[in-house]
Amino acid sequence: MSNLICPSCNKEAFSIFEKLTLGPLTSKECVSCHAMLTVSFKSLLTTLPTIVMVLFSPNIHTSSIIAFGLVGFIITSFLHVKYVPLINAT
Ligand SMILES: [Zn+2]
Repeated sequence: MSNLICPSCNKEAFSIFEKLTLGPLTSKECVSCHAMLTVSFKSLLTTLPTIVMVLFSPNIHTSSIIAFGLVGFIITSFLHVKYVPLINAT
C-alpha cells in the first residue's frame, strides 16, 4: 500500500520510483488526468531518519557512515512513498 493517489482524479498518479524523485521543488504530471502534482515541504521531514542515522553512526569510518546512511535512506524512501500525500502544484 502506497500513497500514490492523485488528489484530482483519485487514481494512481505514477509509479513508486517516480514519486521517489518528487520533492517540494519539483512536480510531475498525473498519468490519468495530467494534473501537475507535487509534495509539500513537510515531506522533507522524511529525511530525518537519514540524518539521524548518519549522526548516530557509531564511529567515523566512512564505510560505517555509508552503511548507516543507506539504512536511513531506505527508511526515508519508505516514509516518503507511504505517508507523503500528493498535492496539486500551483
Ligand atoms: Zn490525476
